[in-house]
Amino acid sequence: MAKELYDIAEQPPLGVVPPKMHAWLIRPDRFGKPMEAFQKEVVNTPPIADDEVLVYVMAAGINYNNVWAGLGIPVNVIGARNKAGEPEEFHIGGSDASGIVYKVGKDVTNVKVGDEVVMHCGQYSRNCEWVKSGGDPMYSPTFRIWGYETNWGSFAQFTKVQAQQCMPKPRHMNWEEASAYTLVAATAWRMLHGWGVNAIKKGDVALIWGGAGGLGSMAIQIAKAAGATSIAMVSGEDKFDYCMKLGAKGCINRNEFDHWGMLPHWKDNAGYAKWLKGVRAFGAKIWEVLGEKRAPNLVFEHPGETTIPTSIFVCDTGGMVVVCAGTTGYNATVDLRYLWMRQKRLQGSHFANTEQSNQMNELAVRGLLDPCLSRAFTYDEIPVAHQLMYENKHPHGNMAVLVGAKDFGLGAHGKAPVAIEHPTLPKGDVHNTPHPYPMSAPLPSIAEAEAITIADDGTKVKDLMHRGIIACAPGDTIGQVAKIMVDNEIHAVVVMEGGKAVGVVSQTDMVLARQGRTSEQARAMLAKEVMTPGCATCDAGILLSEAVSQMTGRRMHRLVVTENDQPVGVISMTDVVRKIIGE
Ligand code: NAP
Repeated sequence: MAKELYDIAEQPPLGVVPPKMHAWLIRPDRFGKPMEAFQKEVVNTPPIADDEVLVYVMAAGINYNNVWAGLGIPVNVIGARNKAGEPEEFHIGGSDASGIVYKVGKDVTNVKVGDEVVMHCGQYSRNCEWVKSGGDPMYSPTFRIWGYETNWGSFAQFTKVQAQQCMPKPRHMNWEEASAYTLVAATAWRMLHGWGVNAIKKGDVALIWGGAGGLGSMAIQIAKAAGATSIAMVSGEDKFDYCMKLGAKGCINRNEFDHWGMLPHWKDNAGYAKWLKGVRAFGAKIWEVLGEKRAPNLVFEHPGETTIPTSIFVCDTGGMVVVCAGTTGYNATVDLRYLWMRQKRLQGSHFANTEQSNQMNELAVRGLLDPCLSRAFTYDEIPVAHQLMYENKHPHGNMAVLVGAKDFGLGAHGKAPVAIEHPTLPKGDVHNTPHPYPMSAPLPSIAEAEAITIADDGTKVKDLMHRGIIACAPGDTIGQVAKIMVDNEIHAVVVMEGGKAVGVVSQTDMVLARQGRTSEQARAMLAKEVMTPGCATCDAGILLSEAVSQMTGRRMHRLVVTENDQPVGVISMTDVVRKIIGE
């Protein structure tokens, strides 16, 4: 007869499932920092469906997603599930785990009670028409990240997973090591192996961003196993040794370069020339590290906004930049000339499907993938581990917590098939990487459920605009336009033709026109040659916040205001700033 509840690390007899279990729960009324959001509770052990498995969790991996789940932003995962019909008013997180199968649904054939398993975090409905027709489950509308978008993750004595998530635990790894690598390694596997003609192969060269980070450390090893050469990007030479031990041919310290960030405007000759100098020097560094003049045909991307311009530029003709995140920002700029002329590919990638996760795990089972475990915690320390992440005070590499395992270092059976060196991170290493959003958000279905409410004081454009248009004609010289600007203390002049606004000459347009010309030459140019054609307009009756979105979205500082489609004035960012100061 099963006990009602077992203590943590008091393992029930194999296959005996108690009706209740210990778990760390997040509830909406305590959304906030991890130390407050996570609380220990006892809940009913979940029942399983025919294609599901109940796993007794020995150890669980820590990922940033559950910091977000605890904060309740950008998505209230509990509210979203309740809206979708799930009754539980709590969230049990945890998207990585190792453990032992305790119960299987009647349709399960790939695992049996007693099997030692690790789990990947991709869930989807087996009844989805797309999946049934053989489509990649990663494209299924039912796809969810277990333990973040779904409940019953691994921060509990038992976790409920789909049978297809279960994979053999590498015998040579202890419980905490085995629980730490799956999410990042499977993601890196799909990025490198999942994209047809650009899939990594022997002889390829891969540039790996964040080589000492969670994804990058896996990518280096996966590239090595494929017979490819990798170059690891890091932020300090103290991380070189770590990446080289994992298999990188060489490393580059990104702090030696300063051309990062969005591309300069393509009209900005001076800015572009400076950027080009920076990125060429970076390309030369790649050649130096490689020992030959070759461009990487694969670029493994996740920093996003600050690095994509460089990644696209240095990627070889016909090569691929594959991206799974935008840690530094989402508005990546691309010089399309290099993309189309050299026929490069910018490919998005997200987690991995069952087949890819198993291919990755095969590497781990064969001893060819070090889990890069940097720190393991006890069950009681689950909030502490997340709090460290929240404060960016955690080490690089992958972290894990014990759940059912009685102590650290247990669960390994024998030596690894291949002896690989466990690399260690530099002393005192802590994180400094921002995590703007969880890896899955905002998924459309959840985003729809949780509409963002905007605070707005109701100010309209007509309340703040400057009435009257200070304009010039297309044939006016830049010298004349400059005088209009100075006399009227304005930053841009609308170009009017036949009663219609056909363009704007801004200060930026004039300064860019001056590049490579003498003052006299620039002064003699015509407004129509320099202006930004077309005129961004907004109606006087729209909300000021809408006008601000238009300006920031189009990277503009002003809009021509219209009434009945006729230009009547101008609203500028300066007006908005004045209003803020005025308040
Ligand atoms: P991580 O362990 O924090 O590593 C990220 C690395 O990025 C750091 O090691 C850092 O290395 C580097 N980095 C930070 N700022 C940078 C910058 N400005 N320029 C260039 N490199 C920079 O994180 P991770 O686990 O590898 O995950 C990376 C991202 O992928 C996160 O945003 C994560 O949420 C996302 N992710 C997505 C999926 C998916 O399926 N879509 C799956 C897993 C993770 P250095 O400072 O040494 O350069």
